[in-house]
Amino acid sequence: MSRISELQKAGSARRRLRELLSQTDNRKCADCDAPDPKWASANIGVFLCLKCCGVHRSLGTHISKVLSVTLDDWSDDEIDSMIEVGGNSSANSIYEAFIPEGVSKPGPDASHEQRMRFIRSKYELQEFLKPSLRISSGKTSSASLQTSFSRKILDSFRISSTSNKSDGLIEFIGLLKINVKKGYNLAIRDMMSSDPYVVLTLGKQTVQTTVIRSNLNPVWNEELMLSVPQDFGPVKLQVYDHDTFSADDIMGEAEIDIQPLITSAMAFGDPEMFGNMQIGKWLKSHDNALIDDAIINIVDGKVKQEVVLKLQNVESGEIELELEWLALDQ
Ligand SMILES: [Zn+2]
Repeated sequence: MSRISELQKAGSARRRLRELLSQTDNRKCADCDAPDPKWASANIGVFLCLKCCGVHRSLGTHISKVLSVTLDDWSDDEIDSMIEVGGNSSANSIYEAFIPEGVSKPGPDASHEQRMRFIRSKYELQEFLKPSLRISSGKTSSASLQTSFSRKILDSFRISSTSNKSDGLIEFIGLLKINVKKGYNLAIRDMMSSDPYVVLTLGKQTVQTTVIRSNLNPVWNEELMLSVPQDFGPVKLQVYDHDTFSADDIMGEAEIDIQPLITSAMAFGDPEMFGNMQIGKWLKSHDNALIDDAIINIVDGKVKQEVVLKLQNVESGEIELELEWLALDQ
């Protein structure tokens, strides 16, 4: 590989890592919630603060391989496996699935001993895992048990991110088709304009639109697809400004609550049985990003919802979307 393409590749890998780090759930330590983590465990797939990183390092690299997000060189495989896990909340949904009563997560100011006890229980002894991931057979040595544990957990993420059938550990209930239509009045990040693109994240899945050059009112009209698992959360929407020579700048974000859409669709069943009608809405409130109530309609036998979002944590910008719900068991 030429030196230049090697550099480009390293640049895009670093960008992917920074994008992952900028997800809301990765803005705090996976183990103690301290803000602004700068470290990560590459094999576990979590972002960590300096203090928790110290505890991880003391467990040994066979359990946790810690790297600095800013200082260390990451291999493509390490970055891929971080992205596959999908960030702190996705990893914690496995590693902290069942925290027993009487055990509490350490806070940012916890002592070294409290941190140590929790982190060993969480990753080395894996006491809080989902029962389906706990290994029942005993005889193996602890080191190989550890390896098979980690592999099994990583595999469970892998299955969920590559399959949209219900044969993985995570069952999908349907598909969400998102037409990213337009942006309005987006923020300026370069000299005069921005080169915006939209990233949508649901659990460990991430999809994105193309980049539109020098446009603060871009029209994408691009359809993106996400598989929706049974225990879905909101879809995160982020807008970035594409930079050729440096990391992409964020131009705002918003959350899409997909619960109203899915609940109304399920209440009606097969939409082809109905004529065009309104079946529900996601209401605008002070704590969501909606510009107006987002009405859910049956249109020509399809369940659709128009959503216009005001981008958060940015000076200006709106994004217009159309969602369509496709249930899997129809
Ligand atoms: Zn921490």
